[in-house]
Order: sequence, then structure tokens, then C-alpha cells
Amino acid sequence: MGGPGTGIRAIGMIKVDRRAGHVRELADGGRSRMIRCEGVSKWYGRGPGAVGALRGLDLAIDGAGYVAIMGHSGSGKSTLLHLLAALDRPDSGTIELGGRRIDNLNETELTRFRRREIGIVFQQFNLISTMTALDNITLPALLDGAPGKRRRDMGMALLRALGLEHRADHRPDALSGGEQQRIAIGRAILFEPAILFADEPTGNLDSETSAQVWRLLHDLADERGMTVLMVTHEPAAAVHCEKAFVLRDGRIVTTIDVHDGLDVGELAARALRSGG
Ligand code: ADP
Ligand code: MG
Repeated sequence: MGGPGTGIRAIGMIKVDRRAGHVRELADGGRSRMIRCEGVSKWYGRGPGAVGALRGLDLAIDGAGYVAIMGHSGSGKSTLLHLLAALDRPDSGTIELGGRRIDNLNETELTRFRRREIGIVFQQFNLISTMTALDNITLPALLDGAPGKRRRDMGMALLRALGLEHRADHRPDALSGGEQQRIAIGRAILFEPAILFADEPTGNLDSETSAQVWRLLHDLADERGMTVLMVTHEPAAAVHCEKAFVLRDGRIVTTIDVHDGLDVGELAARALRSGG
């Protein structure tokens, strides 16, 4: 995937910072892909009925890799991803991505951050039903004001890399669920962010299609050097992950590392069953 001629610059070697117009080495020790949370809390509502979705959460992810955050329903997974993607702000604590605080960006910085520096995919594919696969996958470039030919070139290259070139002119209702999610992932990585977030990305897919999506997420980390952070309640989803964190009641309670030579999915399942 990627490389010269595809319109997708190789990640992991050199990345062009388009805003500054200079070449930024990504061989920066993985700094651009680091994620740090310290003492992050998030409450919904006020007073006695308030719900503490995150309660002093600490998290450190260094460099590229495919990482899962596992937790039962209601453990705070979606809240955490919303904060990491700067879709919402924490009530307290600090969040750093790529060595930079993101919990206090202003609106202009936020727009750029969300469009350029991260990608995010959800359980619902959120494709626009009246637009073709090509137009959906290149939507961020349209919002960014890129000319039509450039958008088409970028989009076709990405569709090719995803094995979906033959679907370019199809609208979402003519695509399978797995194809729709792969288009949504393509849209999220159009600008080659260093970090991709996925919130229960296979929650609406059958097991065979889920396996394709897990493989794609793994390959994005492995071949493009991205940090892919997936949250899921399904232990099977962690099959290709190098690391899993178990989230319970708004805090990380267990860390599982594949370098221990063990199966992350199985260990995560055990940790979830045993109460962390
Ligand atoms: P998960 O994604 O792990 O299922 P969430 O982050 O969605 O967990 O939710 C964590 C807790 O916060 C749950 O108790 C949930 O009911 C609550 N919660 C989430 N979003 C809201 C909201 N917008 N208003 C009130 N409570 C919420
Ligand atoms: Mg959720």
C-alpha cells in the first residue's frame, strides 16, 4: 500500500507537513504517534446524579502499533476516544498526542487537528448516502478545498490500496457492511494521520467481515507505521493487537503485552471475565 505513484506518501520515513511547508522527519522516535493521558476525568451531568465516565485515567502509548482498549459496555471507552479525538474536553487531567497538549486547543487548531492529524472511525460507518464511494473517501479533501482532479487521484489511489477500486462509483447502499467500513477507514486516513482511532469498528459486521477489518487495522499500523487505537468490548477483536489495556469504571486496570509471547485476545477475555 502507498508509495510513489499512488498519491499516498510513505509513512514511517518522511512526512510533509503541509501547513509549514517543510519536511518533517517521522524518524522522530515515534514522538508524533505518542498518546498520553494523565489524571483524565469526565463527568456527565451535575450533582448527586452525575456519572463519572472517566475517573483519573492514566494511559501511555509510545510509538507505532496496533493497540486495543477493552472494556465492558459503560466502562468509558467511547468517552475516552471522544476526548482523545478532541471531540470533547476532559473535566480535569491532561491529554497529549504527538507530544502536544490537545485538551486546550482553540477552535481553529481543533479543526486542523481533527482533519489532518488524526483519523476516527465508528461502529456506524457514517458515510453520506447520496455520495459515491469515491466522493465519500475524499470528503476531507473536499472540505479542505482540494481541486477535483487531485481529489480523484488521491481517492482512486486509496481505493486501489483498499482493494475497492471497482466500487468507486457505488453509493453506500450498494456496498456491503465491510466495504462501507473500509471506505470509512479510507476516509479517516486520507491525509495520512499518525494516529487512527476506532470505536467498536466491527460492531455492525459479521465475523468474516470483521476479520478483514481487523487485518486492515493491523496492516495500517504495520505497513504505514500508524498508531491504531481500537476500543472494543469483544476480546476477539484484539486478535492482531500488540497490546491491550483493560478499562473498568473509567480507569485502566490491566495492561497486556503481546511481547510476553501470549495471545492478547485470550488474555483480555480472561481479564474482562475476572473483573480486571
Ligand atoms: P462504553 O463506550 O465503554 O460503553 P461510554 O463512554 O459510552 O462507555 O459511557 C461511560 C459511562 O458514561 C456510562 O455509564 C454511560 O451511561 C455514561 N454516559 C456516556 N455518555 C453520556 C452522556 N452523553 N450523558 C450521560 N451519561 C453518559
Ligand atoms: Mg462505546
